[in-house]
Amino acid sequence: MINVSKLKKGLVIDHIAAGSGYRIFRQLKLDELSDVVILMRNVPSQKMGKKDVIKIENHINLDLEVLGLIDPHATINVIDNGNRTKKIRLALPKRVEGILKCKNPRCITQYEKVQAPVFYLAKEEEKTYRCSYCDSPTQFEGGE
Ligand SMILES: [Zn+2]
Repeated sequence: MINVSKLKKGLVIDHIAAGSGYRIFRQLKLDELSDVVILMRNVPSQKMGKKDVIKIENHINLDLEVLGLIDPHATINVIDNGNRTKKIRLALPKRVEGILKCKNPRCITQYEKVQAPVFYLAKEEEKTYRCSYCDSPTQFEGGE
């Protein structure tokens, strides 16, 4: 049994939907950190049945936009001296830049070099975004 409850300083990404933990891990490139990172999968949860949890033994800058896009219901706990000092609630970003790609083959972003295409949230329930150049809808699929 590994003791993961005594995080002294760092971040805990909690209430991740079971199965999304590894996706977050990859998207945020947590494997490239030199800090201690623990990905726990299928942790029993009263509220969720099962959840994933990620613990990072350092205070790092997380991309909250990407996190919110993958799992808007996850929470981030900031830990200092063994205590939670801050709780960050995520949300689906209203505007994303450089994460999504337009699916419209005739969109300007397909043939001109648009470094970071901008999309706006259209339908929250379906995670549907609209291209700011051609208005085509696109959904976030997690960068598989
Ligand atoms: Zn477009």
